[in-house]
Amino acid sequence: MRLSRSIRILATLGPASSTPAMIRALYEAGADAFRLNMSHGDHGQIAALYQAVRGVEDAAGRPIGILADLQGPKFRVGAFAEGRVVLHEGDLFRLDLDNAPGTQRRASLPHPEILAALTPGQRLLLDDGKIRLRVQDIGDGYAETVVMVGGALSDRKGVNVPEALLALPPLTDKDRRDLAFALDLGVDWIAQSFVQSAADVAAARDAVDGRAGLIAKIEKPQALRDIDAIADIADALMVARGDLGVEMPVEDVPGAQKKIIDAARRRGKLVVVATQMLDSMVKSPVPTRAEVSDVANAVFEGADAVMLSAESAAGEFPVEAVTVMDRVGAKVETDPHYRSYIDSIRPMPEATGADAITKAARQVAETLDAAAIVTYTTSGSTALRAARERPTAPILVLTPRIETARRLTIGWGLHGFIGEDANNFSDMVEKARRIAKQTGFARTGDFIVVTAGDPFGTPGRTNVLRIAEVREED
Ligand code: PEP
Repeated sequence: MRLSRSIRILATLGPASSTPAMIRALYEAGADAFRLNMSHGDHGQIAALYQAVRGVEDAAGRPIGILADLQGPKFRVGAFAEGRVVLHEGDLFRLDLDNAPGTQRRASLPHPEILAALTPGQRLLLDDGKIRLRVQDIGDGYAETVVMVGGALSDRKGVNVPEALLALPPLTDKDRRDLAFALDLGVDWIAQSFVQSAADVAAARDAVDGRAGLIAKIEKPQALRDIDAIADIADALMVARGDLGVEMPVEDVPGAQKKIIDAARRRGKLVVVATQMLDSMVKSPVPTRAEVSDVANAVFEGADAVMLSAESAAGEFPVEAVTVMDRVGAKVETDPHYRSYIDSIRPMPEATGADAITKAARQVAETLDAAAIVTYTTSGSTALRAARERPTAPILVLTPRIETARRLTIGWGLHGFIGEDANNFSDMVEKARRIAKQTGFARTGDFIVVTAGDPFGTPGRTNVLRIAEVREED
């Protein structure tokens, strides 16, 4: 299935999936890349997960991507004298900077940047949006609010502030420490949480300094409003539906998903759809029909990857969850509607040699019913342009850089292989034929379509397209 499925599967690792044997089982079930969540676990545990994935990679002989997801700013109320209070609609409830234990009338909100940004009329969402407050009045060191939706509020529950633009550094101190640690480990992707603006992403990009790809997690309405500028800077976007569905009405999330996918796809950036895709599989070995439809919809929409969070990190059925994603992805991609839908949303090529060659390669491959498109790439950029075309043929990526092959594991339809760059035209064709045949993508007599840059070994210059027939001796 891995050979035929183009959508990629990103599985979060956690207590349910921390052993090498389980990571191997997830890989074999179809996980293409793994997410390390920097919100959970110390650096020793993160390093152990990282090494376990690299061990599976060695044993499998195939590149596997690793993503470190930075926690970002997390806001919480303080503790309560009685451990919890129950708020009722219409109650007045004050949030202030005082550390004293909370009561029925007030709670500590030890985040001056929130109080500084709030204005009357804005909403505060507590405990994943279960409790909703509206700001009535702002004073020195406090916000007086009215309870719009009540409920039980206990110690240190999370706070979301969807409407205010907070004066926050783009990366917290913890994020900076985690980032340095993850980059030294050698992760392939960094995910930045709670991005508010393109400027946040630009700052993270400077901090990552080209040592990994950068994913901007879109989980705030402000980020959605700045999506074009964010997509210009990030290497990939994540539709982080968990917090997005808290910060905006849940019925707005499907439209936001389409907007984010479109912003990424137009630029040839990668896009991951995340959170609650198979949520019931945390406890059940079979998904709901609605969850299957949700995964299928992301495949139809042309996402590069779908992600598992609690299902693989903390659920009872991690392998089953990956298996369901694998089966749904493979099935949808053979559905008669899939191709016509994907073709209808293909973005226009840009006026570059690389896009001209890449578009031509897709058309030639379709005309000849070629077994594969083979691209040579150093940085991965040519491969990403090839994926942007969403061709019917699989894309084999030949790269001398293991880092590139690993990074591309979350790219639609890309199959990375490590190999020396071609020295000349005949070498280019020879190597491409051989890899296509040896990896089982092509058989004797099949056509393959090869793209590369001449002079060979010069990054970022795709200007050659060749058709080749795979021979008996390849
Ligand atoms: C999300 O909110 O959807 C998300 C992916 O973020 P996290 O899982 O890190 O909270």
